[in-house]
Amino acid sequence: MCVFCKIVNNEIPNKKVYEDAFVVAFLDINPVNPGHVQVVPKKHIEDVLSASNEDLSHIIIAVKKVAKAILESMDYPAFNIEVNNGAIAGQVVSHLHFHIVPRKEGDGLTHWPGGQYKQGEMTQIAEKIKNELRKEGAINEIE
Ligand code: 5GP
Ligand code: ZN
Repeated sequence: MCVFCKIVNNEIPNKKVYEDAFVVAFLDINPVNPGHVQVVPKKHIEDVLSASNEDLSHIIIAVKKVAKAILESMDYPAFNIEVNNGAIAGQVVSHLHFHIVPRKEGDGLTHWPGGQYKQGEMTQIAEKIKNELRKEGAINEIE
């Protein structure tokens, strides 16, 4: 059983701050800032793409609720929501989790660097993604 399933089932010590029928939220053991929380589905879902729309809706609604409580109770002005999706993207625990990282001025975190597109590359890439969405039959109001 994965470490977050064990937390869901209280099989290892944890500090839960929120629970409903679908979701639990608990303090991250190695917080970026104090109050850093993980929001996870109760059932073992590996990542965003394996989650149903219903699963994701429950999670993001809980993220909003818990993030508001972190900001209000600990006097933070802002927060990041982060999902590391896949090992290459830094996902260590293979149970879907949304990080809520509360932020304050001067906390030393910096945003990822922005790159540059070559001439014409931006159009090509936008077309690639739009074509894929078309194949999948996604409702896309662009065209
Ligand atoms: P990832 O890199 O997979 O996005 O993040 C995994 C997160 O889970 C890390 O921030 C790590 O500190 C947290 N974590 C890993 N094991 C445990 C644990 O046993 N208990 C708690 N509360 N957090 C954990
Ligand atoms: Zn799990």
